[in-house]
Amino acid sequence: MSNTKPNILLVYTGGTIGMLKDFKTGALKAFDFKTLLDKIPELQLLDCNIETVSYEPIDSSNMSPEYWIQIVELIELNYNSCDGFVILHGSDTMSYTASALSFMLENLKKPVIFTGSQLPVGDLRTDAKENLITSIQIAALQKNNEPVIKEVCLYFEYKLYRGNRTTKINAEHFQAFASPNYNELVESGVHLKVNKKYLFKPDENKSLKVHKNLDNNIALIKLFPGITEVVIQSIFSTPNLKAVILETYGAGNCTTVPWFIKLLEKQISKGIHVVNITQCSGGSVMMGHYETSNALKRIGVISGKDITTEAAVSKLMYLLGANISQEMFKTTYEMPLRGEMT
Ligand code: ASP
Repeated sequence: MSNTKPNILLVYTGGTIGMLKDFKTGALKAFDFKTLLDKIPELQLLDCNIETVSYEPIDSSNMSPEYWIQIVELIELNYNSCDGFVILHGSDTMSYTASALSFMLENLKKPVIFTGSQLPVGDLRTDAKENLITSIQIAALQKNNEPVIKEVCLYFEYKLYRGNRTTKINAEHFQAFASPNYNELVESGVHLKVNKKYLFKPDENKSLKVHKNLDNNIALIKLFPGITEVVIQSIFSTPNLKAVILETYGAGNCTTVPWFIKLLEKQISKGIHVVNITQCSGGSVMMGHYETSNALKRIGVISGKDITTEAAVSKLMYLLGANISQEMFKTTYEMPLRGEMT
């Protein structure tokens, strides 16, 4: 590889971007990475060196913490020799993987850009080419020989977002993602417009620290009017359960029926962490703002503030795996660690 051009590692994990239609069944299935690259000869025109690594492609519905660790290890292995990473990933769970990687890669100072597409690369109207080409261009952006982007991001349909702020909002539109509580980092028009003030600024004196210990003994409960005690009780009776995320209403409100609050209080006193996030896509949990969230605050529920469900899940797995003391857990969870909450 030449020394002057940035080196980009392009990693293919699967997803629609690299799929073909099986004409017998009509279903989309993965095909090999080499074919994907052949479909985009424009990649050779980019002003960077591109190395590629392909995993056995999967639909991202089969993504798992074990797989996140494999991707993180690949980045760790190539961290010094590469200037940026582009990860091709199915859109269904892309926000989960991007969020998880943001926590697993502490003091990251290079771009890790997730992208994919709604239509396969071979499709006439595909969005794959623009998504892939611009992701590589953004990963290769440099100023004073340093990457411009120093965090885990997600690029889709002309916008670069902070990965742990994103959520998949549409299974049909090319604009499949949104970042409801944080501005986009880059907009792609005739020029790439970098919104500098929103970029994550890592501590330049600290070197990359990779975290691979994730604890998935957690549960996610979405509240609805009429949810029964027996359902909540059975979730909290799960063996080895360490933490529960409650998706509550509005600004973090929930029912105040005594059995519900008592049940949570008992669990928290046993050392189970309970995190409050909102079912709304935009806005924040503000415990104590309404009477219907006062009790949660009083019994020691953790505020997820304006975190997405995807980031709430991976932050929980990461912090449980990091052996944070029981006393410090709430304070640490409520702090923004990678720009995932305001
Ligand atoms: N089911 C696909 C996946 O997430 C969808 C996509 O790639 O957009 O792998």
